[in-house]
Order: sequence, then C-alpha cells, then structure tokens
Amino acid sequence: MKDSPVRPVLLVALGGNALIRKGQQGTISEQFENLRVPISQIARLTRDYRVIITHGNGPQVGNLLLQQECTEEVPRMPLEILVAQTQGQIGYMIESTLDSELMRQGIAASRPLVSLISYVVVDEHSPAFTTPTKPIGPVIPEDRVPSCPYPVRLTEKGFRRVVASPEPVAIVEKSEILRLIEMDFVVICCGGGGIPVVREGRSFAGVDAVIDKDLASARLACEVGVDIFVIATDVPGVAIDYGTEHQRFLARLDVNRAWLYAAQGQFPEGSMLPKIQAAIRFLEGGGKRAVITSVEAIEEAVAARAGTEVIRG
Ligand code: ADP
Ligand code: MG
Repeated sequence: MKDSPVRPVLLVALGGNALIRKGQQGTISEQFENLRVPISQIARLTRDYRVIITHGNGPQVGNLLLQQECTEEVPRMPLEILVAQTQGQIGYMIESTLDSELMRQGIAASRPLVSLISYVVVDEHSPAFTTPTKPIGPVIPEDRVPSCPYPVRLTEKGFRRVVASPEPVAIVEKSEILRLIEMDFVVICCGGGGIPVVREGRSFAGVDAVIDKDLASARLACEVGVDIFVIATDVPGVAIDYGTEHQRFLARLDVNRAWLYAAQGQFPEGSMLPKIQAAIRFLEGGGKRAVITSVEAIEEAVAARAGTEVIRG
C-alpha cells in the first residue's frame, strides 16, 4: 500500500436514487444490496486514493416526511431534522457496508472510517425558499396529484413532491474533514447535501429545506481541494436528448457546450442540472477531473473509461 500523504483525494457523491432503484419499494435489504455495488469499488479505490463519500437522500428524506405525516400522535419535525436523520441512517448503511468490504479485501486495519454529521450554510434570503425545486420521496400516481397538500412537480421519474433547495454557501466542518483526511480516514460527510443552516450571530440555526447534494459536494470538493470528483448516479452519464429515441450519452462534455445544452433545456433542474453545475463549479474552482457516471462504473470512471468527463471549454 502506498504512503498516505501522496495519495490523491477522491470525492465520490452517491445518488440517493441509486440506493433505491427504479421500481423498488426501498426496503432496507434492497438499500443494503444496492450499496454493495458502489461500496465494493470504493473500498478498492482506498488503496490508491484518500476517499471522501457524500450521498444524496431524496427518496429517503421524502419517505420520512411521508411517515411522519401518517400520524397526528407525535409532533412533526422540520426538514433539517429529517435531513439529520438521513445522515444517520445512510451514514450507518455506508459505513457498515464499507467496513465489511474493507475487511473482506484485507485493508480494514489501514483505512479507518467515520461518518460525520455535517452542517452546510445557506443564504436565508435565497429565492429558493419561495420556489421549491428539489424532488423528494416516491413517485406519486397521477390520479393522486390533485389532492396532494404539498407542491408536486413532474420529473423524468414521474410526479414527485418538491421542497425548497437553497444554494450551499459554506461547509461548516471543513477543517474537521481536512484533518480527518490528513489522518487517512475515509470520511462520509455532507449527507443529503448537509443539514441546512443559517448563521445567527456566532451560532447556527437549521432551516426547512434540502440542499442538493451535488452542489454541496462541489462546494466541499473546492474547499477541501479534492483531486477527482465523481458523481455516481443511476444512469451511465450525461445524455443529450435524454429519454428520446435520439438519446446519446457523451464521453466528454466541455463547459461551453454544457451551458449551451443547459440553455436548450437538456438538463432538468433538481436532477441532471445540479450535477452539471457541480462539475463546472469544481473545475472553475481549480479541480482537475469531474466525472458523472453510474454507480456500477465508479472505478471505470476514475480510470477514465466510463461516464461523462466534464472538461474546461
Ligand atoms: P441522484 O439521486 O443520483 O442525484 P437524480 O434523479 O437527481 O439522481 O438525477 C439522475 C437522473 O437524471 C437520471 O435518473 C435521469 O432520469 C435524469 N436525467 C435528466 N436529464 C438527463 C440527461 N440529459 N442525461 C442523463 N440523465 C438525465
Ligand atoms: Mg439528485
């Protein structure tokens, strides 16, 4: 195994939708099973990289919201509390799966891991608070949409609930994450985009929102000085004319062309657009490589053999 200080830093952002696949109910065994695919690859990658894992929580946080709406008997919790819950539940699932994989691959002793409850500062005056854009929870059957007591939007997966999703401004635990990485920990952090907080004097207060995990991951990647940023989701990469008979996945996409396609509406808000924005922000912040790929092809993407590499224009 190589010496720790020289290993480049790899950030893998795992999609919440990759933990609950299309057509699945999202049982705990399904989620653990789905996780084995990315985590076994990430375990192998820890031999050559210092690794940070972030994860989404769209399906899971929406499920928690629905669960608490099923009863009047316990007080309802605001979204930031539910985001914290998903950091716990998904952090635990990732940590225990990775732990077993590192053990199986015989590298557990040299790769300690930790999952960190993480806050992300957002702008409290963001227009995002009045225009919800982030899809969460399960797909809602079309006939139930008119009676939904919350905002709903048609996404590529069907109708889904949407919530406010303000821009991430700063990662509160940045220096802790840096120190853990320097000590060679595999760090799981910024789950579900981070617990959204605003500054109140010298402390923080949670706000009712869900930050996009791709944008939070880009912020983290820039602040920590990550070398490679991999966004792993449930499609092989970025396509143009996605979902049509002309659909074509791209091996490379330069920033200028990405903006052009975005202006044509090729990348929907709340799903592919934030991944593109995240990749671009990372490169503009000095990052070397940003790749959007499937959870099945993380190692291949790191080796530049899969996914869509976003490159400077
Ligand atoms: P995640 O949980 O990984 O963040 P999202 O649902 O937010 O997943 O984003 C991935 C989804 O983006 C894909 O499942 C796909 O349906 C959708 N998508 C929309 N436009 C495109 C595009 N141009 N290329 C690829 N995927 C796209
Ligand atoms: Mg997403």
